[in-house]
Amino acid sequence: MRVPFDNTYIRLPERFYSRQFPVPVAEPALIRVNHSLANLLGIDPQWLESDEGVRTIAGNEIPGGADPIATVYAGHQFGSWNPQLGDGRAVLLGEVIGSDGERYDIQLKGSGQTPYSRMGDGRAPLGPILREYIISEAMAVLGVPTSRSLAAVTTGEPVYREQTLPGAVLARVAKSHIRIGTIQFFASREDTEGLSLLINHVIDRHYPDLHDAENPALALLDRVLQKHASLVAKWQTVGFIHGVLNTDNILLSGETIDYGPCAFMDTYHPETVYSSIDQEGRYAYGNQPKITLWNLTCLAKALVPVLDKNEDVAIELAKSTLDRFPGYFFEENVASLRRKLGLTTNQEGDENLAKDFLDLLEAEKADFTLAFRRLSELAGNMPDINVGSLFTFTPAFDDWLTHWRKRCADENHDRRQLQMLATNPAIIPRNHLVEEVISTAMHDNDLSLFHRLADKLATPFSLGPDDMNYAAPPRPDQIVHQTFCGT
Ligand code: AMP
Ligand code: MG
Repeated sequence: MRVPFDNTYIRLPERFYSRQFPVPVAEPALIRVNHSLANLLGIDPQWLESDEGVRTIAGNEIPGGADPIATVYAGHQFGSWNPQLGDGRAVLLGEVIGSDGERYDIQLKGSGQTPYSRMGDGRAPLGPILREYIISEAMAVLGVPTSRSLAAVTTGEPVYREQTLPGAVLARVAKSHIRIGTIQFFASREDTEGLSLLINHVIDRHYPDLHDAENPALALLDRVLQKHASLVAKWQTVGFIHGVLNTDNILLSGETIDYGPCAFMDTYHPETVYSSIDQEGRYAYGNQPKITLWNLTCLAKALVPVLDKNEDVAIELAKSTLDRFPGYFFEENVASLRRKLGLTTNQEGDENLAKDFLDLLEAEKADFTLAFRRLSELAGNMPDINVGSLFTFTPAFDDWLTHWRKRCADENHDRRQLQMLATNPAIIPRNHLVEEVISTAMHDNDLSLFHRLADKLATPFSLGPDDMNYAAPPRPDQIVHQTFCGT
């Protein structure tokens, strides 16, 4: 067997999905295979790179054991309710158990029309597929739970948007693709049986310990709150802006999904927005924790029918659980800021120390990533290769640095610098680098920059003598002001 499928979603009733084969493409060609992820999934990476493997990623061949389906969901998009969404340009081939014992979905994205395509063509242009490959893998290496990129191919077919673009397909992997919007789909149809079946499936799959809880649905809500409090705290600490935090893009597994108009922030500012479709800054960097709670509130509302037979009691249970989110986020956020500042003990005032640093970054228009990297370099002997040529703290930071050094001296931590250099990356998928990769791939048919950036991002915490171009912030003429979802 080429892919060791073991499918469970297909065992749910047929109203959860439509059976749907990927639509074959004209001339599939390999972009890249993620060898380590293929190995984790028990798939031979050499086979994935073969003609048969490439045809499989393109959807031209269906591997034995696959049960291709498009799943249905609903969701709030920019706050507006959409009762019917679904995999409009993706099919789930099936699930495999990785060598880590985890169950993973393998999905093809850009694989043609499905019953949920509405007006769309079911396809994906090359640019967004390269973006998703690069950024999702960078996130994984940075320790952020995320969907992964197993492989990507070009289709040899044009995709028509404002311009004619080359088409591509991404094989995406996630612990599941079950969204808040999937729960909302069944809740909004008052399909309490469907809702219960789905909750059971999610608990079986992601949180089996919750079967023993007194109220499993309530325990699930609480667990998903914790997962997303932790996830959004991680986004904040790497400067990641998701861009489309709609409820159909929030996974119950607690992984990041949907790399559309996302971006890593260069200059620190809480109001930073890159997405061209986010006119009001609903999904700005600083709003992400708040909007995560908004999304989780939608989840809580959808769960009300199964939280208690008495609706008033159910609503009270939902509310009191949601009230825990700010505390969960606060704990996660302070802990990750402490790690970024190189502190291992908890002291009163740490939160203010971190906040003052961020306020200074904002006032001085400092680069978020380089500021923390530079701080790591200052925490011990200056490494031979450092970001000093790219970033210096302005005199406005003097008092803060004195304060931070004093706070560090309060604790005996001989591995501080090592830990900080392994926490604060030197290399992130900066927008101008990603744009350059996409533009050379599209216009010059040259994937070498894509491969080089993907390779660099595999070791974001180490800075070599040839890496300054990757670590550097954009020159003024390179700054990317807007990103596009490119669907
Ligand atoms: P997204 O903005 O990627 O979260 O997509 C929102 C909804 O639109 C989902 O139901 C997608 O499946 C659907 N969609 C996005 N792009 C396409 C496309 N090119 N063809 C069909 N459906 C699409
Ligand atoms: Mg989506």
